[in-house]
Amino acid sequence: MIGLISATAAGAAARDRLAAAWPDRTRVYDGPVGDAVRRAFAECEQLVCFLATGAVVRLVAPLLGDKAADPGVVCVDEGGRFAVPLLGGHAGGANALALEVAESLGAQPVVTTATDAVGLPGLDTLGLPVEGEVAAVTRALLDGEPVALETEVAWPLPPLPCTGSSAVGGYTVRVTDRAVEPGAREVLLRPPTLVVGVGASRGAPAEEVLEVIEGALREAGLSRRSVASLATVDAKAEEPGILEAAARLGVPVVTYSAGELASVPVPNPSDAPLAAVGTPSVAEAAALREGGELLVPKRKSGGSPAMATCAVVRRPGRGRLAVVGLGPGARDLLTPRAKDELRRASVLVGLDQYVDQIRDLLRPGTRILESGLGAEEERARTAVAEARRGHAVALIGSGDAGVYAMASPALAEASADIDVVGVPGVTAALAAAALLGAPLGHDHVSISLSDLHTPWEVIERRVRAAAEADLVVTFYNPRSRGRDWQLPKALAILAEHRRPGTPVGVVRNASRPDGTARVTTLAGLDPATVDMMTVVTVGNTATRTVAGRMVTPRGYRWQEEPA
Ligand code: SAH
Repeated sequence: MIGLISATAAGAAARDRLAAAWPDRTRVYDGPVGDAVRRAFAECEQLVCFLATGAVVRLVAPLLGDKAADPGVVCVDEGGRFAVPLLGGHAGGANALALEVAESLGAQPVVTTATDAVGLPGLDTLGLPVEGEVAAVTRALLDGEPVALETEVAWPLPPLPCTGSSAVGGYTVRVTDRAVEPGAREVLLRPPTLVVGVGASRGAPAEEVLEVIEGALREAGLSRRSVASLATVDAKAEEPGILEAAARLGVPVVTYSAGELASVPVPNPSDAPLAAVGTPSVAEAAALREGGELLVPKRKSGGSPAMATCAVVRRPGRGRLAVVGLGPGARDLLTPRAKDELRRASVLVGLDQYVDQIRDLLRPGTRILESGLGAEEERARTAVAEARRGHAVALIGSGDAGVYAMASPALAEASADIDVVGVPGVTAALAAAALLGAPLGHDHVSISLSDLHTPWEVIERRVRAAAEADLVVTFYNPRSRGRDWQLPKALAILAEHRRPGTPVGVVRNASRPDGTARVTTLAGLDPATVDMMTVVTVGNTATRTVAGRMVTPRGYRWQEEPA
């Protein structure tokens, strides 16, 4: 029984919601809270207290006995925003109860047990069909007990804190498309790995199509819950038996032109489909069209004449590469989407200093592949290779990962057999602009002054073009110990077209604790104050300083100064 205790009207309202949701599991303890807590502690396996944690700590402290026997205690705050397991997280089941209470009240569970605090992904929230002992295995994962992960087929799962090696009778999460039954203490995840190619004569009944598919799956020992799609030729796109079979399996129908199918090499071509629809194979060719391993060669249905054929292919797991910008440094300039992607990935690839910036956000079990400055090509290759092995990979970069960063080398390597997700980040030019005022109010450009990978003549030509076009310019990589003449040279080119008093913003370590932002002028800038942690933004001929802030007018007449 779960004892419910509250003190205030708001607490009582939340308490009543829970009591109404779980009438058979809960009992309301009325009266003075001290007394109510004492009675509930003695009588219930679990308590939910709609009280401050401090109050509950004081009330239960004298009642504490044995860790194994004490009830689990969950606190819910006055606003109903948080459910905090205070006592008996594991043995008392308070962690699991807090998740349930949170779910029911729309609150946030605040689980502080080490293994749980990390936001374990729910096994039933991975987007895959799941079978078996979800509650028991989730509890084992939550409680940090050894859980083995057996991956029979690669699939880009988020990291699961699986630690154990598989032992008979131990907890197991098994990723499989085989038609096995879950054992005790086992969860089966069903990745959509199977493509079933189907052919059907006109008017083939759905039963016959389903029968040949199910027979093939059964004999090959494959689970129908791992079927991703039925594949066939365009001419059969409206064939009712195929559509009905797909609907009953709950999967889409994918079709290809006869020409596309004719070009797929298959083990069992025949003349009949060639005459009928113009390809020597429908079932095998459609199943094999996106690649993979032919598990069941073409077979016919039992009817006479047979009206349906099928073939089953296991397609390779499709990896996922997320290219994630971390923003300029401050945690609250890291987007929620970036955060989600970092936790979604089971492999993280990045420069060591960027990894340090977000290490606390990663889920346990995340494989971290960090490397030092200069290893860009290698990082790009590693990230793509891991994704091609079927993993969920996050490749990180500061600011926006596509701006002078890892996205382009990675995507230059990436093949069409992986999914790529880009998450934009706040790039240094924007972080700096926000500190300087409104320097980017009209057309602007970013130019990197690093001549490591770009010849100086090219950089100079671009600076000159920006100068002539009167663009606001933000210089990235403006100056380092070995590269000190480029910035003065670039500024001199701009000065040929802009007055000496043109505002210039110098922002170092934007959004980081030791960050600085200064507004000076083209003539007044001392290059020695600029380093590799800095961006330099030079105004155009209309940019002014207003109350110490850089302002580039949008150029509309109403904003122009009177003549
Ligand atoms: N992808 C990054 C840029 C990488 S190039 C982005 O989108 O911001 C590295 C250069 O970016 C540095 O030399 C510096 O000029 C600039 N930079 C990156 N972070 C910065 C910050 N927090 N403050 C100022 N400049 C920064």
